[in-house]
Amino acid sequence: MNVEQVYKDANALLDGHFLLASGNHSSRYLQSAKVMEYPKKAALLTDALATMIHKAGIEVDTVCAPALGGVLTGYELARSLDVRSIFVEKKEGGMELRRGFTIAKGEKIIICEDIITTGGSALKAAKAIEALGGNVVAFASLANRGFCKRVGGNDTAKPECSLPENIPLFALDDFTFEMYAPEDCPLCKEGKSEAIKPGSKS
Ligand code: ZN
Repeated sequence: MNVEQVYKDANALLDGHFLLASGNHSSRYLQSAKVMEYPKKAALLTDALATMIHKAGIEVDTVCAPALGGVLTGYELARSLDVRSIFVEKKEGGMELRRGFTIAKGEKIIICEDIITTGGSALKAAKAIEALGGNVVAFASLANRGFCKRVGGNDTAKPECSLPENIPLFALDDFTFEMYAPEDCPLCKEGKSEAIKPGSKS
């Protein structure tokens, strides 16, 4: 599967001039939710991710996603793995399990996101699960922005990555884009466009 092409076909990989949450500019942007828009295509992606997890011999009881971004991917991955699906939600400074979801002591859990940038939300989810006695056996996401090292990927983990090194990260592909400080941005220097802010708020 050509994962980048799947993203392009879904209009989930955008070309343009973007203002990122970090304040940097980029000519490419991943609008991750778009790749989950058609359930049958989404299932092909999570089936591929499940195959990677199986091949690595990881045993899993449950997939847990940090809401909101990871919920659809987590649910589809749970279906691909034929295990339970739960999610944690933001609270002050972290994440927590709500809505009557429970986990057993030692339950083997994969934390699943749609996209791993520095892994901050995934780490908060893992901490919430571990505080309840769960055993986080892996992280998983469709796309890896290249700050963290995924199983089978070429890149090494960057200092920005917040995921622990001793727990594997499975992702379908690395999406490593050039980022520029606004004053160094070649697109700004061209003067033909202004950086727009994509993402979950537009
Ligand atoms: Zn710019």
